Amino acid sequence: MSKNITIAGAGLVGSLWAVYLAQKNHNVTVYERRDDMRKNFKEGGRSINLALSDRGWKAIEKVGLADAIRKVAIPMYRRVMHDAAGNLSYQSYGKENQAIYSVSRGGLNVELMNLAEKYSNVNFQFNHKCLGVDLKNGAATFGAPDGVEKVVESDLLFGADGAFSAIRGTMMKTDRFNYSQEYIAHGYKELTIPAGPNGTHQLEKNALHIWPRGGYMLIALPNVDGSFTLTLFFPYEGEDSFATLDSDEKVVAFFERVFPDALALMPNFLEDWHNNPTSSLLIVRCYPWTANGKVALMGDASHAIVPFYGQGMNSGFEDCTVLNQLWEQYGDEQWPHIFHEFEKQRKPDADAIADLAMRNFVEMRDLTADPQFLLRKKIENRFADKYPELWLPLYSMVTFSHIRYSDAWNKGLLHDRIMQKVMDRPDIAEVWDSEEVEQAILEELKNYPELTQNV
Ligand SMILES: Cc1cc2nc3c(=O)[nH]c(=O)nc-3n(C[C@H](O)[C@H](O)[C@H](O)COP(=O)(O)OP(=O)(O)OC[C@H]3O[C@@H](n4cnc5c(N)ncnc54)[C@H](O)[C@@H]3O)c2cc1C
Repeated sequence: MSKNITIAGAGLVGSLWAVYLAQKNHNVTVYERRDDMRKNFKEGGRSINLALSDRGWKAIEKVGLADAIRKVAIPMYRRVMHDAAGNLSYQSYGKENQAIYSVSRGGLNVELMNLAEKYSNVNFQFNHKCLGVDLKNGAATFGAPDGVEKVVESDLLFGADGAFSAIRGTMMKTDRFNYSQEYIAHGYKELTIPAGPNGTHQLEKNALHIWPRGGYMLIALPNVDGSFTLTLFFPYEGEDSFATLDSDEKVVAFFERVFPDALALMPNFLEDWHNNPTSSLLIVRCYPWTANGKVALMGDASHAIVPFYGQGMNSGFEDCTVLNQLWEQYGDEQWPHIFHEFEKQRKPDADAIADLAMRNFVEMRDLTADPQFLLRKKIENRFADKYPELWLPLYSMVTFSHIRYSDAWNKGLLHDRIMQKVMDRPDIAEVWDSEEVEQAILEELKNYPELTQNV
């Protein structure tokens, strides 16, 4: 029997989940705080972009949306590192043809909403802000545009209302609800490299560009119109920080010194610097994620992470995959059980990707400029190419597989142990591609049978 289901938040996860529910013939109403973003949306324009990878693809493939997204997604096969002298070095993300995909956040959200609206049983209510929820019966209160507050009762309520979730806000007031939030020391600011002549990309198109500088970094992802969206991840305070770059002269002098090749491609640099906000980065952890078999949090509402593994949206989409699998396993009448299994299964994975994302920040901003780190990656990749049944690098487990994040993290820690021993050899730079090193890794692997299961 079809249920009446409410979703708070028509962001990436809420809109995708609406499609899943609609395809199972439930009546879905999605309440979104903002106006309909489709009203002023310009296709192909400058955009904030996200890296979509296998976990995300799987979730959107399941509802038949992957082909449409593939048309506007740009594969990025490798990292291109830019040093301060403008020299480039390269690191493949995975095997040949494995890529992460640059997609426009707005474009993807629009596609998801359009797809959801094709179903007559889905209805979007914009300019409706969730104010809270009665957790016992799942009745949510929304502030409507006319100033009136509406109480909406439904069979199930999903809180996909992002990192500052109002639904979670109500759950936080209940007994034994665990919650933590942490702002990291860095914020971010977006900048743009416009398209070159005839819409050409002014940097290598099919790559994610990084300017690693130790304590901070600049990255660039390609857009379909030939531009790149750049993001500076930079400390709020300290010697080199947003606080100290307090005049146009200082900002320009800093970029001339630290990111000269990027600055040369940004004619509107100062305009972007002033017009684009400095935004903070937040990690949210909480538990439980569901209440009374009626209410469940999804996506950033239950697990907001820093963006350095490119997995926030991907893991939110994976929430949809996991919930859907449990639903298919247990059936429509068992939602309290489905919710319980969902949070129990998913929480360790959300915690793992939160930790992995912080670790990857250090890797991106610092280690990608470190010859020892790059050598380690070369050794690992060589070994993984030769023995794919024995070794899947951590990055590939997270990005190109559906191995649980928590398993990937545990295996990655064991890889670290093995590679530490290998890298401790004084002659490693000379013998890195030798039979001897290969044998040493094979020997080490015997100590960790769990690593070679289900690779
Ligand atoms: C700089 C940056 C780069 C990122 N890069 C990547 C990347 O490369 N790859 C990746 O996978 N992830 C990335 N992420 C993470 C990704 O953006 C988020 O994980 C993803 O947007 C989460 O989706 P969501 O639907 O849970 O939340 P959101 O996208 O935040 O959507 C929540 C929706 O709920 C609405 N809402 C909020 N409060 C209310 C309310 N009270 N009532 C009703 N509606 C409400 C909001 O308006 C919004 O539409 C990045 C994040 C940042 C900040």
